[in-house]
Amino acid sequence: MLITRALPRLPAKCKPCDTLDVVAVARLARHLVPVVDVLYPPRCPACGDAIAQQEGLCVECWAKLAIPSHVEHAGDVVPVYAATLYNDTSRKLVLAYKHGGRIGLSRMLGRMMASVLPEPLSGASPTILVPVPLHRWRLWQRGYNQAALLAKELAQMGKGDVVLDALLRHRRTPNLGGLGRDARERLLRDAIKFNVVRARSVAGRNVVVVDDVLTSGATSRACIAALTDAGAASVAVACFARVEHDHLNDDTKT
Ligand SMILES: [Zn+2]
Repeated sequence: MLITRALPRLPAKCKPCDTLDVVAVARLARHLVPVVDVLYPPRCPACGDAIAQQEGLCVECWAKLAIPSHVEHAGDVVPVYAATLYNDTSRKLVLAYKHGGRIGLSRMLGRMMASVLPEPLSGASPTILVPVPLHRWRLWQRGYNQAALLAKELAQMGKGDVVLDALLRHRRTPNLGGLGRDARERLLRDAIKFNVVRARSVAGRNVVVVDDVLTSGATSRACIAALTDAGAASVAVACFARVEHDHLNDDTKT
């Protein structure tokens, strides 16, 4: 019964970009949890141990997540709201989510991110949530933008309105290893541009750049610069995991 009610909604397409609406798919998957639990008993996505229900972690892995003690700043100016620090356990979750096709993890990761984002000021316009963009080839390879899924989850939790295509990645970013900081900055600023057709959505608004993991000071700085130039009133960053401060402004993410 549940299945027959849900299936007619497919194929679910995202209206702005006409790609598969994976949030809708994840929602459908949640309806199917009782069936899935029988076929695939719940496992901790970090270590594989049996757990009580889907979308959770085992007690040991929860305990191993490192919760930041304070809000860090990118470029010493822009606040970075991170649910966890990047360590072995958060890395396994990110790998399962981003490279293992475990899109159902977006809900748990998004919920953890929402818990560290400040509440919007009452009476203020909703915050604009902008995912870090993927190049179209990477999007085609992976099938989804993991940052966009997290932004949609944050929106569902009342943290703002999503503008999926406010930023566009025009070029594939080569491996940045071995390049100096200035060269990385130039490459990423050339690769990530503001989408001018979204100017009215961003101008004068408080914007949060959303990503799964912030190993890249250069990537976030390119996004921040593009949104600031587009007239955003303020820019912050939200991520599931961030590296420690010493590495925040010196990275090699591609
Ligand atoms: Zn575990």
